[in-house]
Amino acid sequence: MTGLSDPFNRPINYLRISVTDRCNLRCVYCMPAEGIGLLPQGEILSYEEIVTIARLAAELGINKLRLTGGEPLVRAKLPELVAMLAEIGGIDDISLTTNGVLLKECASELKQAGLKRVNVSLDSLNRDKFERITRYDKLGGVLKGIEAAKVCGLNPVKINMVVMRGINDDEILDFANLTITEGWHVRFIELMPFAADNPPHGHSTGGSVELSPQFMSADEIKGRLISLGELEPSLPITGNGPAKYFRLLQTSGSIGLITPVSQHFCFNCNRLRLTAEGKLRPCLLSDQEIDLRQPLRSGASPEKLKKIITEAIQSKPKQHQLSQGRVSGKRLMSQVGG
Ligand code: SAM
Ligand code: SF4
Repeated sequence: MTGLSDPFNRPINYLRISVTDRCNLRCVYCMPAEGIGLLPQGEILSYEEIVTIARLAAELGINKLRLTGGEPLVRAKLPELVAMLAEIGGIDDISLTTNGVLLKECASELKQAGLKRVNVSLDSLNRDKFERITRYDKLGGVLKGIEAAKVCGLNPVKINMVVMRGINDDEILDFANLTITEGWHVRFIELMPFAADNPPHGHSTGGSVELSPQFMSADEIKGRLISLGELEPSLPITGNGPAKYFRLLQTSGSIGLITPVSQHFCFNCNRLRLTAEGKLRPCLLSDQEIDLRQPLRSGASPEKLKKIITEAIQSKPKQHQLSQGRVSGKRLMSQVGG
């Protein structure tokens, strides 16, 4: 392992791999109700291709992988991919971001295959509201999935809640309370405008963006928590991701705030993204992409592929431009993986 860093001296050790653009939900801030034009199967990287790229990335210094989507659990035989990735020397952490709908059925198999932990996206504990946000009545299944993940040791299970004013902000305290009563690790995420071009969630095409009226800053979210008692800063529960962590006194759970909009964390960004069709994306919020699939399929040497990966890292922008009103205009979040 040589260790990778970008031109701004940020060590890059984390690859987020989108394994599919398909999803079994239609969250209002992520996908239109009718879904999106899907990639033909042949354009999606095979598991062997993903593993080849991950292996080369590991040789360059990547040691953490996260599987995402679309919804990663809708891709058949995901545990087989996890097992293949777990065999790669130098990879010491494989995690998953999921909506949790299918987690109960496969949590144990994923754990046995080598998955270390999961993040589950859950925006409401109220069945009707969950359905309004995701457009499916699947809350019960998600809660069972979270339980199954805990029982089989995919810990810490982190719960990601995208906070939307007037939609689920009345549940901030309910989620925070679960860090006390159930030891949950809850992360509140600021709503990002994205390429859905889908008012009222914020426009993003055309280079200018207005934040949605539903946007709530992390400061405001934190203000809502005051009634529960003192929040003491705490260390990250794992890794060095973008969340700032707190604990309510004497709880085993934790509260994280993720502030892509109000306070960017680009100075600390350690990640590279791989889309389902094999494009490297150096920044979530920039449309710059570098194709790996074509060279991979046309027999490029490992050295050539590593050079492409290294060049992608060298082209990482210093920071995203959300605060200046510039966001990704090309893809929906489900096509990048969050
Ligand atoms: N389907 C999986 C899931 O929902 O966890 C993985 C993919 S999803 C795109 C990854 C994460 O992006 C989820 O936690 C989701 O809530 C978040 N996300 C999607 N659109 C977002 C937006 N506009 N603002 C903030 N977070 C968003
Ligand atoms: Fe699907 Fe995840 Fe997007 Fe929701 S946030 S529509 S679960 S990809």
